[in-house]
Amino acid sequence: MGQTLTEKILDDHLVEGDLTPGEEIGIEIDQVLAQDTTGTMVWLQFEALDLDEVQTELAAQYCDHQTYQFDFKNTDDHRFLRSAAGTYGAYFSRPGNGICHNVHKENFAAPGKTLLGSDSHTPTPGGLGELAIGAGGLDIAVAMGGGAYYVEMPEVVNVKLEGELPEWATAKDIVLEMLRRLSVKGGVGKVFEYTGEGAASLTVPERTTITNMGTELGATSSIFETDEQTKDYLERQGRGDEYVELTADEDAEYADEVVIDLADLEPLIAKPSMPDNIVPVREVAGEKVEQVIVGSCTNGGYEDVLPAAKMVKGREIAKHIEMIVAPGSKQAGELLARQGWTAEMMAAGVNVSEATCGPCIGIGHVPASDSVSLRTFNRNFEGRSGIEDDSVFLCSPEVAAAAALKGEIVDPRDLADELGDLDAPGIELPDKYDGSKSDIITPDEAIDDELIKGPNIGNVPLKDELAADIEGETLLHMEDNITTDHIIPATSDILKFRSNIERLSEFTLSRVDDSFAQRAKDADGGVLVAGENYGQGSSREHAAMCPMYLGIEAVFAQSFARIHKANLFNFGIVPLTIDEETYEKIEQGDDIAIVDDVAEAVRSGDEEFTIRVNDDWEATANLKASERERKILAAGGKLSWTKQQYEEG
Ligand code: SF4
Repeated sequence: MGQTLTEKILDDHLVEGDLTPGEEIGIEIDQVLAQDTTGTMVWLQFEALDLDEVQTELAAQYCDHQTYQFDFKNTDDHRFLRSAAGTYGAYFSRPGNGICHNVHKENFAAPGKTLLGSDSHTPTPGGLGELAIGAGGLDIAVAMGGGAYYVEMPEVVNVKLEGELPEWATAKDIVLEMLRRLSVKGGVGKVFEYTGEGAASLTVPERTTITNMGTELGATSSIFETDEQTKDYLERQGRGDEYVELTADEDAEYADEVVIDLADLEPLIAKPSMPDNIVPVREVAGEKVEQVIVGSCTNGGYEDVLPAAKMVKGREIAKHIEMIVAPGSKQAGELLARQGWTAEMMAAGVNVSEATCGPCIGIGHVPASDSVSLRTFNRNFEGRSGIEDDSVFLCSPEVAAAAALKGEIVDPRDLADELGDLDAPGIELPDKYDGSKSDIITPDEAIDDELIKGPNIGNVPLKDELAADIEGETLLHMEDNITTDHIIPATSDILKFRSNIERLSEFTLSRVDDSFAQRAKDADGGVLVAGENYGQGSSREHAAMCPMYLGIEAVFAQSFARIHKANLFNFGIVPLTIDEETYEKIEQGDDIAIVDDVAEAVRSGDEEFTIRVNDDWEATANLKASERERKILAAGGKLSWTKQQYEEG
């Protein structure tokens, strides 16, 4: 039987297991990336593993999420990251050089390679045929040390794109259509492999918009076959020699198929506050807008900003609107500036920002209270913009620019009719991506050869071996879709403690209940209960590390998001699933005890656990874990387990 492209790449990198969907496999990792908010922990963990240098083909450390240096803590973190990259042999991308996914795509992503990154949108280079997966920082540290990465073998779904996009519909609308059809849970345990003549018609930057936002579907990864478009992009980036032709076999068998006729698509928009809350733009036309932002790792490339620039050129954006353009990388920003587009945007009233994630996680450009913000980003979880009860819509750069001109949400086709001289900008790549590379410090150019730690940089917390008894108060009973933003918010006032777990843990779940951390401390730990899809959103391992630090020993949820579940194992917290009836019956404050000897049951592979609530009634909780995950849990987390492995040789 033939293989899908995903299976071919996994097969090439397989070190453990076979390619049976749902079974755990171990794969070799070629490249790793870390961003600044997860990177400090990656390197502190790498240091704790006592290794001398990076073992993967390539490691890259980016400074993108928080580039505004509010006080010494962030600057210290960035200096620490530079020193770690220098000490251990990684590339270092300076603050302001751009968002990890954009800069990685431009400089390092290569067909057929595997990439592991401590950021949930790591799958972005799938648009170039790289199999890229997001993971927790500890997994990155271990992979950098030459260890395999373990993941459940995903099901491979063929997304067949037919036809061609009509005017004003974009790659963003393709992935919004996927979200409309499949929801934020539709990709869990899956890789989406895009094929067909519609896929072939898309340029690499369009493809990476789709693979980037596959994360919002909950997918393990998304990937495109390579072809003339891939070759063309790499050549324009001056990396034509890295092209490899990669396709699925003709007789490859997919687990499922989704067919989208691109010709049927129209401009779509995600309403607040979930990326799958999709409607046609026309359905929300007329809604007054106060802020428009074009940027992010989804739509911050040269090819994304250019259409918006073409649309506002020679016009003026509405007076009550602030339109911000934050290019995803300095390469994109530099090209736009050299070609005069930055000046055109400024003349139209655009506020041109530095290349950063910033506003995507509520760092800068927080919307005004009770106002609508239209963004080209990938997620709009409530409060992520930096203000609770925000009203953030997600759309293409074309829809964003149209709203900026009109002052309200408008389908760009209708605006074009109204203005008479507004042409659909389409997609255009530069002849050559010839921005300067001065902001990337190569391992050979390293400035530091030892770690530089400021006073806000603490140690990695370690947990004891798993106990026989787990019993504690239900400190929180939470609803469905609790995100890692809920668990540890990424706003600047909180994020500045990312390298100081003792301090950061005080903010744990503060967006759900601001008394939680104190209550957890007073009770000396406890357990958490949640609905479906607990921990969705990002790879932020602090969302497991901080609850662990506060003594949380188990999370009972109806289901878990993939990366967060792995992070719970990594930090020694037992992730148990419960059914809806049990979830409904448990109340906050209830005492939950696991009846079995937990450590013994975890070691011996038991899947069913009996829980006793308030010493009154019993229910079943399930643990779905591989043998390796059980060993990690029993050891008290992955760091302790990996150290044990090294000691045992
Ligand atoms: Fe940065 Fe937002 Fe992309 Fe995350 S989703 S990498 S915060 S731009």
